[in-house]
Amino acid sequence: AKALGKNRYQFCTEDIARALDLRNQIEQALEQALDHNGFHLVFMPIYDLTIMQPTGAEVLIRCPALAEMGISPEQFIPIAEATGQIKRIDLWVLERALQILQEMNAVPAFEHFYLAINISAVELHNKQFTRQVSELLSKYQTNPAQLELELTETSLANDDPDSLHTLTQLTELGLTLSLDDFGTGYTAFTQLASYPVSALKIDRSFTAVIGDRSATKQPMVDIILSLAKLYQLDVVAEGVESQQQLDYLQQRGCHRAQGYFLCQPIDKDALLQTLSTTA
Ligand code: C2E
Ligand code: CA
Ligand code: CA
Ligand code: CA
Repeated sequence: AKALGKNRYQFCTEDIARALDLRNQIEQALEQALDHNGFHLVFMPIYDLTIMQPTGAEVLIRCPALAEMGISPEQFIPIAEATGQIKRIDLWVLERALQILQEMNAVPAFEHFYLAINISAVELHNKQFTRQVSELLSKYQTNPAQLELELTETSLANDDPDSLHTLTQLTELGLTLSLDDFGTGYTAFTQLASYPVSALKIDRSFTAVIGDRSATKQPMVDIILSLAKLYQLDVVAEGVESQQQLDYLQQRGCHRAQGYFLCQPIDKDALLQTLSTTA
C-alpha cells in the first residue's frame, strides 16, 4: 500500500509539472501573439428575431498558434486572466473591433450595426478601463450605441461598489451592457434591477435542452424570459443549433439569437458579404 501511495504521489507531481509546463507554454504563446499580431477576430451574427435578420455580431478572438496546439479561447482566456495579459487582449480586441465598425460605417446600410465584445471581469477593477474605452471610441469616431460589452454573470457575483461604479461609468459613455452566460451564476434575481445592464444572454446549455422531455423542471429559458420581461431587459439566446430551438424562442418572445443553426463564426469579409445580401 505504501508503494502504491508513493507511485501515486509521483504520478501526481508529474501531472502538476505537465500542467504547469502547458500553462507556461500558453502564456508564452499569448505573449508572442500580443507582440507580433498573432490574434484575429471572427464574428458571430446576432439575429433580431422579429425580422429574422442579423443586426449585430458577437466578436470572438482567435489565436492560430494556440489553435495548432489544440488550445481554444475557453482554455487560454482564463490563463490570460491569471497572468494579467487579459488587459492587453481586451484592449486589442476593442480597438480592432472599433476599427472594423468604422470601416462598416462607410456603408450607409451598416450604420446601425453593432458589435458585442467580451470583456473580462478583471476590467471591473481596472481603474483605467473606462477612460481607455472612451479614448478608443473617440479615436475611431464610433457611435457608442454600436458597442455592446458582454460581462459574465459571475463577474458581478460579489456585488462590490467598484464593479457597479465601473458599469455605471461605462453606460454613461453611451454603450450598452449585457450579462453573458446568464443563469449559470448566482445573481440574486432582485439585484438585476440595480445593474445598468440592458440585455441577458441565455447560456447555451439552457438553449441545448429546449424540447428535452427528460428535463422535469420548468425550462430555464422560460424563467429567464419572464425575468427579463419583469425587469424590461432584452434577451439574447446563445447556441441555437436547431429549427425547433429557434421556433421555441421566437414563440416566447425572445428578442435576439445566435448559434450554429443561424450562422457559424465568420471572418470580417464574410460578415460584410452576409450583411450585404440580407440588407
Ligand atoms: P462566450 O462569450 O460564451 O462565447 C460563445 C462561445 O460559444 C464561442 O466559443 C462560440 O464559438 C460558441 N458558440 C456559439 N454558438 C454556438 C453553438 O450554436 N453551438 C456551440 N456548441 N457553440 C457555440 P469560443 O469562441 O471558443 O469562445 C469561448 C469563450 O472564450 C467565450 O464564451 C468567451 O468567454 C471567451 N472569449 C472569446 N473571445 C473573447 C475575447 O475577445 N475577449 C475575452 N475577454 N473573452 C473571449
Ligand atoms: Ca511582450
Ligand atoms: Ca459572450
Ligand atoms: Ca456565453
